[in-house]
Amino acid sequence: MQTASGYDSGNIFAKIIRGEAPCFKVYEDQHTLAFMDIMPQVEGHTLVIPKFGASDLFSLPADDLAATMLTTQRVAAAVKEAFAAPGVMIAQLNGAAAGQTVFHLHFHILPRFNGIDLQMHVRGMGAKEVLAGHAERIRQLLESH
Ligand code: AMP
Repeated sequence: MQTASGYDSGNIFAKIIRGEAPCFKVYEDQHTLAFMDIMPQVEGHTLVIPKFGASDLFSLPADDLAATMLTTQRVAAAVKEAFAAPGVMIAQLNGAAAGQTVFHLHFHILPRFNGIDLQMHVRGMGAKEVLAGHAERIRQLLESH
């Protein structure tokens, strides 16, 4: 894995990229990977990461950032349709002071519904069979477009 200087490749997302840890994958290409958040703040909470090792927005080379944003746009459209969400929130945290807990850059895709608040950040684990079903639902939509 190519990395920015100062990047710690022991984090969980680096392990997922290397295939050393599992994930509920929804999309993968040469430069990016998307998978379900295991502690979803809302049904359909999905993460998009670059395969380049960068801890935050400021340390990712421009080409990888462009690829990551295109994947975010594409996956967010599929998540919106899969969950019939009237709104979609994209969130991205830089640094512990901002609430970042995994130090590999990632974009949160959060379907939003009128009158439904987000769950607290990094709290309850999602049920594996539910996350697997959600990943499959999003994958099918991506494949059909
Ligand atoms: P942040 O706090 O912005 O760094 O977000 C990290 C996100 O990664 C949180 O929403 C966690 O629920 C999520 N997360 C942590 N470990 C995993 C994992 N193994 N697979 C999927 N999502 C994870």
